[in-house]
Amino acid sequence: MKKVIIIGYGPAGISAAIYLKRAGIEPLVIGKDLGALEGYDDLVENFYGLAKPIPGKELIRNGIEQAKNLGIEVVTDSVISLKMEENHFIVITASKSYEAKSVLLTTGKTRQTMTRPGFVKYRGKGISMCATCDGYFYRRKKIAIVGCGAYMQHELEYLNRISPDVTVFTDGHELECEVKNPVVKDKITKFVGTEKITHIETKNESYPVEGVFIALGIPSSIEFASQLGVIVEKNNLVVDSNYETNIKGLFAAGDIIGGKLQIAKAVYDGMNVADSIYKFLTDKSKKA
Ligand SMILES: Cc1cc2nc3c(=O)[nH]c(=O)nc-3n(C[C@H](O)[C@H](O)[C@H](O)COP(=O)(O)OP(=O)(O)OC[C@H]3O[C@@H](n4cnc5c(N)ncnc54)[C@H](O)[C@@H]3O)c2cc1C
Repeated sequence: MKKVIIIGYGPAGISAAIYLKRAGIEPLVIGKDLGALEGYDDLVENFYGLAKPIPGKELIRNGIEQAKNLGIEVVTDSVISLKMEENHFIVITASKSYEAKSVLLTTGKTRQTMTRPGFVKYRGKGISMCATCDGYFYRRKKIAIVGCGAYMQHELEYLNRISPDVTVFTDGHELECEVKNPVVKDKITKFVGTEKITHIETKNESYPVEGVFIALGIPSSIEFASQLGVIVEKNNLVVDSNYETNIKGLFAAGDIIGGKLQIAKAVYDGMNVADSIYKFLTDKSKKA
């Protein structure tokens, strides 16, 4: 039986693993890919200690390597199910099943992209997937945000602070939340520009834009938690001040619990949750 299994080897999972290891707890870390940054070539330049911008994927790979070099057990596999039996958890992956006294979910949030003409061409040239990461470059500019739900609302709050001119494009969907900004409900037909994006086109109109932020759909990885009856609000797992969910011994940290979807915050969460897991495991062993 493992003391703790961490599902996810992004910034939150690896940071928690490092702090746990240093506290004398041997975690097992299971991840399936490079998380939020899988499939993107974005450079990260807003994280501490980066003398030069670094490809996000490289930063994530470095973190995994760092954990392995510290002797932490890291496995690449997909977790497909999480169950509870009496007072322990069963983590089932595509190839194996593990038992653990506690589980930490750091499975992040997947961001949905778009398959529309011009999307790939202008991605990184005016189209961004992350308002908190890139919003700064569009201060006081004409901005569009594409989305209709809680995730869009979260990103919009940030954009409204940096520009007075933000329009919401729901891309043919009904708005699922209240916003004060102008809203265009027509389906987007294409993204148009020269070197950089200049317009969003719908069937009947062409809207000038300088920056477009995609905040579509919502993040999926709460499925395991739902299997166990974890409380979910606005697609974030709800945790207490110890990062523990309503299920005893099941913790969550990083993007999956909401707040700022940033590496610095995920690392901070990872550090804190390690403390809580340590206390949970050691208190438990005293009682036993
Ligand atoms: C395009 C883009 C650019 C960004 N740029 C920046 C930036 O410049 N600066 C910044 O601070 N932040 C940036 N971010 C945000 C940042 O990447 C995230 O906030 C951060 O990675 C969250 O860390 P996390 O550990 O919570 O989750 P993630 O990094 O998403 O990691 C999730 C982990 O869970 C694993 N996982 C998920 N499901 C399963 C499963 N079923 N089985 C096994 N493993 C699973 C994944 O494999 C992965 O290891 C960017 C995000 C995107 C999408």
